[in-house]
Amino acid sequence: MRDSFLTFSPPSIGAEEIAEVVDTLGTDWITTGPKTKRFQVEFAQFVGADRALAVFSATDAMLVALAALGVQPGDEVITTSMTFCSTVHVIEHLGARPVLVDVEPDTLCIDPRAVERALTGKTKGLLPVHLYGHPCDMDPLLAMAEKRGLFVLEDAAHALPARYKGRMVGTIGTATAFSFYATKNMTTAEGGMLTGDPELIERTRIWSLHGMSRDAYNRYSEEGSWFYEIVVPGFKCNMTDLQASIGLAQLKKLPRFQERRREVVNRYHAGFAGRPEIQIPIERPSVESAWHIYALRLNLDTLTIGRDAFINELKARNIGTSVHFIPNHLHAYYRTKYGFAANDFPVAYANYLRLISLPLHPRLTDEDVDDVISAVIDVIAKHRR
Ligand SMILES: *Cc1c(COP(=O)(O)O)cnc(C)c1O
Repeated sequence: MRDSFLTFSPPSIGAEEIAEVVDTLGTDWITTGPKTKRFQVEFAQFVGADRALAVFSATDAMLVALAALGVQPGDEVITTSMTFCSTVHVIEHLGARPVLVDVEPDTLCIDPRAVERALTGKTKGLLPVHLYGHPCDMDPLLAMAEKRGLFVLEDAAHALPARYKGRMVGTIGTATAFSFYATKNMTTAEGGMLTGDPELIERTRIWSLHGMSRDAYNRYSEEGSWFYEIVVPGFKCNMTDLQASIGLAQLKKLPRFQERRREVVNRYHAGFAGRPEIQIPIERPSVESAWHIYALRLNLDTLTIGRDAFINELKARNIGTSVHFIPNHLHAYYRTKYGFAANDFPVAYANYLRLISLPLHPRLTDEDVDDVISAVIDVIAKHRR
């Protein structure tokens, strides 16, 4: 057994990030300024998007995108129960109704057939989530949206970088939200990015900074002017140049990070192959996953313990794990407000009971990965039915 605890998902920060932040602190622009602008440009280039808007989080990116897309009380937005709560919260924040649907059994991404059944005259848009970094089946969603004039806002908090049928995530739907939270594939401590067409991004930028018709950089820099106009009751979720500094350095390292993630995934796959007690995550042939999370599924009928006990057994062996996610329809707020029962979304619920996310990040050594594999196999051996 390993003698130190293996952290589930620490950030990978180095001298480059520190130098870039120190450089920014020595200038007069510590909040939204030249580095944020550069980060937006370099990020848009990286994913091949027309334009990008840097904000304080992926949650904010989705909130301001929905506001700019005109979501309001009376509207419905269809999303998945199997996501982080904030994907659903942002719809509530605008007074609209989040319509939850079930997921596909292999990827646990939103099920296009369930989306089709949930469409009503009030549906304003779709909010698919590329769960664990595996792109959703976008073609049927885009076709539905096209036919009915709906927006498709993608939650790509896990999906940097990922491809669907050769297309980079960030260039597919109406707009795409990325996260730079501390645990994500690259980080700015807190941060997010929205990609989309220039007209929508510029409208969203106004929503992200008080509803002002000019941003702070233009107002106070020499070539700017003091005048601004408030055109909508906007939010305050602009990215700072301190965050953008970390992001500029992280973006350069992202291809290397991804290479290491894939090596870790392949090592897990090989270590777990041919074991009837567990199901390993898949990657459909038509996609390239960003492999944000390695979600193992227990075949509970082959074991004498459940998922929660399995997690405790791994913790006792110094392996940190997590669960992604507790489906939103099980949470008190949504369960009570919309009267959900656990089995309303049977695929999400049944899989929730058997999910364990294993450590997956670029700092893992082969020895760390082997420790995780040995621990999982040891727990299986001791609790085989
Ligand atoms: C992390 C995460 C978010 C929220 O990202 P923030 O940048 O922390 O706001 C949204 N959706 C999913 C699926 C996530 O994992």
